[in-house]
This record gives sequence, C-alpha cells and structure tokens, in this order.
Amino acid sequence: MHKLDISCKPEKFLLSDSFTISRSKRNIIKVLKVTISDGIISGYGECTPNKRYNQSISGETQKIKEIAKLLNNKFDCDNIKLLEQFDPSPARSAVDNAIWDYKLKKINKSIWEYLKIEKPDSIKTMATIDISSLEKMLTKANKFKEYKTFKIKLKGILSDFKKLTKIREAYPKKNIIVDANEAISPENLMNYISICENLKIEMIEQPMKPEFDKLLGKIKSKIIFCADESCKNISDILGINNYYGAINIKLDKAGGLSDALNMCHYAKENDLLIMTGCMMCTSLGIAPAQILATYSNYVDLDAPLFLAEDRNNGISYESGRMLIAKKILWG
Ligand SMILES: [Mg+2]
Repeated sequence: MHKLDISCKPEKFLLSDSFTISRSKRNIIKVLKVTISDGIISGYGECTPNKRYNQSISGETQKIKEIAKLLNNKFDCDNIKLLEQFDPSPARSAVDNAIWDYKLKKINKSIWEYLKIEKPDSIKTMATIDISSLEKMLTKANKFKEYKTFKIKLKGILSDFKKLTKIREAYPKKNIIVDANEAISPENLMNYISICENLKIEMIEQPMKPEFDKLLGKIKSKIIFCADESCKNISDILGINNYYGAINIKLDKAGGLSDALNMCHYAKENDLLIMTGCMMCTSLGIAPAQILATYSNYVDLDAPLFLAEDRNNGISYESGRMLIAKKILWG
C-alpha cells in the first residue's frame, strides 16, 4: 500500500462577535486541521482542543504525531485499529474523521451511501444564544428567530431568570432549552428547575458539575436533564444514565465519528435521548456530525454561524436549517 502522509496544522478563525458561556469568553477559535494524503487523494478532519478538559493545540498536535507514526507503520489507516490503540481525544477525532474522508474519496462514495443512510436535504438545528446583556441576547434571539429551538446559555446566577423570562415573553411558542455549562450550584438547583418549569423550558443541559450528578436522580420534573461535560465518551454512559435523560454527543469528546456512532447506538440501548452537539469549530468540524444528527432527538450544530468567516466550501445555514456538507468539504 502506498505510504500515506498524515499532517496537522493549527488554524485560527475569528468570531463575528464575542461568544460567552459560564466559564469562558472568546473572540477567536483555535482548531487543528488534519490531512491524510497519498499524494493524489486527500482526506480532512478537524478538532478543537478544549481547556475544560485540559486540552491544548500543542498537546493534541503531539498526540496526532504519535497516532501518525503508528498509522503509517502498522495500521494501514484503519479506523477500528485507531480506536483500539488510542483513547478518545480531539486528536483521535480529527484523524478518525480524516480517515473516513480519505477512504470515502478513494472509493468515490458519500458517507450517506457508504453507511446506507438516506441523505436528507437539510437538517434542523437549534441556535445558541450566549451570555451577554439582556438587550444583546434579545438582538441575537431576533437574528435567529427562524430557528425552531433556542439554546440559551446560563451563568448560574440570578440574572439568568430575568433574561430567560424576557426571552420567553418575546417568543412564547419557541422551543427553549438552557445550558448551564456546570454553573448552577446544588443549593440553587431547585430554583432553576421551578423557574424553568414555569417558563416551559424543555431541557437543562449540564446544570451542575459532574460531582453533583447524583442529586439529579432524586428530582421529579418534566424537564429533561442532558449530560454534556458529564458524558464525554462511550465509557461514561453507564455512569450517568440514572441521572440524565439525554446526552450531548460531540465528535471531539467521542474521539471521532466511528466511536460517536457507537455512542449513538449505546445511548439508544440505554433509553437516553440524543443531542448532537459541537465545539466551536468550522464547517469541517461539523460535517461528520451531520450523520449523527440523523440518530438524534436534538441537533445543535450551529458553530459556523458564529464565525466571521468559515473555511471554503462551508455549510450553508438558511431558514433555520443547515444544508448537507458538500463532498468537497468532507465525506
Ligand atoms: Mg453544553
């Protein structure tokens, strides 16, 4: 077999506005683009290292170099062997997704044809409203009013309640879920749940830090709890399924499309609802997750909406939906 060249390159993309969640604010995103090439055909993957999980561009670059060594010498670029040899990480995700892209291009099939999944024309995604002043959050809500579901980021302090109430008043029929990114304290949890029930909020994503997960198991509420930071990869599912009704599956947490697909099946076996989510990334980081969206009850793949400029051949977002990635981008 022709020796493959596996390389990775750090890239930066500006956001069109600052993006704030409970633990961070940023104006720029740093990603790694992986290329696997035989000199004629090239496959691509992308990941976004996340400080929350002690990840960095340099750390993931190092991992990609280690993976590249073994892939070239022993593995013949096999996704299954990649999964057997390396733990889930953004680095593994970018390589796994690049292998998929390379192989699909080589056999000239789309990911949809290969997996025998009917390709939709478009996918409905939710739109995220990050934390800022009430005025700015209402402006963002107006900008995204065509999206059927809003995901509103929470700060874990009382000002959340006023903002949520105002957004609900402005959009009485909108599906709304909230994401606290671990910011709610256990003492405040019941306050949040009762206000969310009153405001007909459908779901609370990652209300508290994972160490408090057990408290969720005792709560009787119509509101669905969704694990994000508490459920990184497939090995976390059995630990959280008594406390949460849903999990947020992301490629970077799962370690690539291969294991994210396994995670979808395992979540369903364990009666968990599925949200397909994403890190802040470009369309290349989103494209493989469109497959996961077809298994999902909730889709949150809106990261490219926040970029000042996406990479070439990016995914189009229109009328509250995202179009399917072109083959030239990925898959
Ligand atoms: Mg989240």
